[in-house]
Amino acid sequence: MASHLTMYITLVSTSGVLTVFLCIYSFLKRKEIRGFQSLIVLTLLQSIYIFANAFELSSGSLAEIKFWTVIEYIGIAFAPVIGLKLCLDYTGKKLSRRAMQALYVIPVITLLLVSTNDLHHLFYKSIYLRPDVSSATADIEVGYWYIVHGSFTFGCLLAGAVVLLRKWSTTKKAYKRPLLTLICGQFLPMVSAFIYLLGLTPWGIDPVPFVLFLTSAMYLWAFMSTRMLMIVPIAKEALFESMHEGAIVLDVKRRFIDYNASARRMLPGLRHLPLGRRLDEAWPDLTGAPFPDTSGDNPGQQEIRVQLKNEPATYQVRISTVNDRYNEQIGYLLILIDITEQSRLQAQLKQMAYYDGMTGVFNRTQFIQRGKMLLEKTADEGAAVAVILFDIDHFKHFNDEYGHEVGDTVLIHTVNICRDRMPEGALFARYGGEEFVVAAPVSDGEEAVRLAETLRQAIFNTPYRGYNGDLHITASFGVGVAKNGISWPTLEELLRHADSALYTSKHSGRNLVTLYKTSDNPLIGA
Ligand code: GH3
Ligand code: MG
Ligand code: MG
Repeated sequence: MASHLTMYITLVSTSGVLTVFLCIYSFLKRKEIRGFQSLIVLTLLQSIYIFANAFELSSGSLAEIKFWTVIEYIGIAFAPVIGLKLCLDYTGKKLSRRAMQALYVIPVITLLLVSTNDLHHLFYKSIYLRPDVSSATADIEVGYWYIVHGSFTFGCLLAGAVVLLRKWSTTKKAYKRPLLTLICGQFLPMVSAFIYLLGLTPWGIDPVPFVLFLTSAMYLWAFMSTRMLMIVPIAKEALFESMHEGAIVLDVKRRFIDYNASARRMLPGLRHLPLGRRLDEAWPDLTGAPFPDTSGDNPGQQEIRVQLKNEPATYQVRISTVNDRYNEQIGYLLILIDITEQSRLQAQLKQMAYYDGMTGVFNRTQFIQRGKMLLEKTADEGAAVAVILFDIDHFKHFNDEYGHEVGDTVLIHTVNICRDRMPEGALFARYGGEEFVVAAPVSDGEEAVRLAETLRQAIFNTPYRGYNGDLHITASFGVGVAKNGISWPTLEELLRHADSALYTSKHSGRNLVTLYKTSDNPLIGA
């Protein structure tokens, strides 16, 4: 046997062993990588082909050669279809079951015809030993089906390459290298076969058997590296999309780059904003608020209220910078947190803590807090403060006569009348039961009494028009005044003064205003 043939057989066998290794490796990793099922089958078929090829080369007779040729075709007849399937798997495409079955028709016929070639000579017109070579190598004269099968094989390889090439333009940069490797893997057997058919290989040897190992290795590498490249971004993308918070990515020029499903839901207007548009310019239209301040070391936060289809929503918007691994700023990340429920509860709590649930005016606690502040502020400004307490006369009568609900309505009615007549800066609160209190900055005691008179007359002149006819309401008033110059009473003292004056009003016949008498204020009765 010629030494170059021995070398060639060694090369082919090595390629066969390596392909078996790839097959075993793919088998062990089959659960980890999508598309590995095709790779297992492909490497198995290639191993059969490569080893049969090695046995064919080392055969001693034409009969042996014919036998190993049939075995070769068990592998090589089906490999093109599996190769195409592998390319489809890689690009995430699928052929219908029928189309896939149709692809196996030619390989099956090929295998049948090769194994029965002596009967019809449709595959090889003739197969004979080379007379000029010392060892037993065969030469062939191709038959009709040989051409059909050859074309089919090239067709499959080409189709696989086209499937991969079509993916090229939409493939991200990081995935281009594995994709290119797969494309080269498709062309490698084609080019080798062409070189062989053109008679350009040394000693006329067929390079395909050991090129196939390279192809499989390239496929394996492409799948493995794609998987490694893919898992992290896919996981990150899934996390980004499934985030409860809305996320919007901008570049350094605040151009709109990406956003997630929550952001789409929270700001529906974003759907109509083309990617690449300046978000800071579109923000006021989208949210009714200026774009959050991003200057300074700690870019800002804002709260926005937007009107969704059915209800208003409140979001907290946090903007932060996005830096690359060299700490260079490459963009911004806006996070939208839905605080609608939280702010609704907060407003509700505030309402409950600050206001009287039934009448909507301040409650007693708030009155005390704010009254003290008003008193302090007015003391500084050198003006006067009036504290007016009033109590509805014979209120029990409304309850007893018409029921508690009508009593409630009378309270609300009275509050509405007074609220409309409150001067600017006045504090109006329910002091308890059917007793109310007003604290207001005034210029002197007379103005304080005028205010109380206004309220008294308004209540007196505005009966409540209920189902049972008009209900006439009156109230008695007591006024305390803090005036600069003499002594400045505390709020508690003022309330005591007002209460004492109210007591006087009640005992003087009700529906009256009484000013608490101090050394500079004569007692005034209505
Ligand atoms: P006076 O002229 O002396 O003030 O007599 P009055 O009947 O108004 O006073 P009194 O203190 O005897 O009765 C007040 C009543 O107000 C007693 C209480 O049941 C009723 N009341 C207190 N808070 C409410 C309320 O929120 N709703 C209703 N409907 N009644 C209330
Ligand atoms: Mg009363
Ligand atoms: Mg009372």
